[in-house]
Amino acid sequence: MADMNYDVLVIGGGPGGYVAAIRAAQLGLSTAVVERENLGGICLNWGCIPTKALLRSAEVLRNAKHAAEYGLVIQNPSFDLDKVVQRSRKVAGQLNGGVKHLLKKNKVAVIEGDAKLLGKGQVAVTKNGAAVGTFGAKNIIIATGARARTLPGLEDDGKLVWTYRKAMTPNTTPKSLLVIGSGAIGIEFASFYNELGAKVTVVEVMDRILPVEDEEISTFARKQFEKQGMGIITAAKAGNLRKGADNVTVAVEANGKTEDITVDRVILAVGIAPNTENLGLENTKVQTDRGHIKTNQWCQTEEPGVYAIGDVTGAPWLAHKASHEGVIAAEHIAGKHPHPLDVRNIPGCTYSHPQIASVGLTEKKAKEAGYDVRVGRFPFIGNGKAIALGEADGMVKTVFDAKTGELLGAHMVGAEVTELIQGYTVAKTMETTEKELMETVFPHPTLSEMMHESVLDAYGRAIHF
Ligand SMILES: Cc1cc2nc3c(=O)[nH]c(=O)nc-3n(C[C@H](O)[C@H](O)[C@H](O)COP(=O)(O)OP(=O)(O)OC[C@H]3O[C@@H](n4cnc5c(N)ncnc54)[C@H](O)[C@@H]3O)c2cc1C
Repeated sequence: MADMNYDVLVIGGGPGGYVAAIRAAQLGLSTAVVERENLGGICLNWGCIPTKALLRSAEVLRNAKHAAEYGLVIQNPSFDLDKVVQRSRKVAGQLNGGVKHLLKKNKVAVIEGDAKLLGKGQVAVTKNGAAVGTFGAKNIIIATGARARTLPGLEDDGKLVWTYRKAMTPNTTPKSLLVIGSGAIGIEFASFYNELGAKVTVVEVMDRILPVEDEEISTFARKQFEKQGMGIITAAKAGNLRKGADNVTVAVEANGKTEDITVDRVILAVGIAPNTENLGLENTKVQTDRGHIKTNQWCQTEEPGVYAIGDVTGAPWLAHKASHEGVIAAEHIAGKHPHPLDVRNIPGCTYSHPQIASVGLTEKKAKEAGYDVRVGRFPFIGNGKAIALGEADGMVKTVFDAKTGELLGAHMVGAEVTELIQGYTVAKTMETTEKELMETVFPHPTLSEMMHESVLDAYGRAIHF
């Protein structure tokens, strides 16, 4: 006998789970969320938000260091690491409280504890090993997310070798730091610590940093990071970690040679692992692929009435993808006809300095997919607002289908591009062509004018470059 029955029981209160729960409640379904740690999940507590708070502190510090370029006098700008971290934790705490409030407002029940599927629409919840109860649900949404991946020989210890949780709550600034992995998470931490004055080296196994981004963009970003003093070693393998009392030596193999690098701390940013253990999947027909739960376009698993969304279902591991899937799952449960998610229209952002943002196909991927492409580029140096801001390093690249004029992809590096990318995302979602983009009026002076110019450039019509 279940202690309580719901129309929808969501396991995990991250941006996938809490959004799914609110949407389900909006649609009149009785809904509960089970969360074992913090509402808001990794995103609000240990991911997207606290890292952006840290990066904002780094940005303010950088601006203060460059004050003289703006005619301002700020002597010896410095930082208090504890206060930087405290601010980041406070921001996370504020948003965690906000999610609590939203769930209450929408009459979503919150059950604290660890959920386990028992099969046949039953879920057992325990807290610290003690039973909280058994709950019945017509529909279950698994939104258990993911955690930092470690590799054999590359395990974190929370002291000398960090993953993201420790990396965002340091008690001292390392003088030297090795970041293993150059995806968005690795690059954001590299950028943060570099700004705080650490000697940062990034090691990437692929032949370029930010490997999912357009090649030109990652080359551009690499040059900027190197100009800021960051060391970057690509096509390289890190291994053989040897720990000293207060440092770590890592063997880095590149170009057929192995070099020992000794640093104060190491950050592992080598991907994430889905949270599927001890979830009771064996009591269901739910299938996994390399640990990630397999779903169809409506986020349904193989087990009738069981859905899965967000990081636990695989790439791209992004909060907005998780939330969007949450809405799709809730609406499908409610018998609505949601629009399936098109992965080509999901933007991706890296909030380093410079920022990187993109949506859709890279030039290479578009060519591999058989498109005859037209490519437009526009540099930040050609934009009045960028120069006025003192942010003249960057570029905007657009990729079009030469036959139809459809926008296939947009790729940017430079100041505020993470805010700009949404313009192209709307355009792409609406299957816009170059014609509409050229006819769109962009306000002056803004960085967004470069988005217009990049489109014009693809058709040989750029005005300001
Ligand atoms: C350092 C870092 C920076 C990031 N920055 C960005 C960014 O800028 N933009 C972006 O889009 N994404 C970013 N991400 C990724 C983003 O955090 C994830 O994509 C997002 O949190 C996934 O949401 P989710 O709901 O699928 O899972 P999660 O946020 O992981 O939430 C899952 C929740 O389920 C709970 N849970 C797990 N198992 C159980 C169980 N058995 N019972 C009860 N509860 C359970 C967990 O405690 C957790 O709260 C970042 C990630 C990291 C680590």
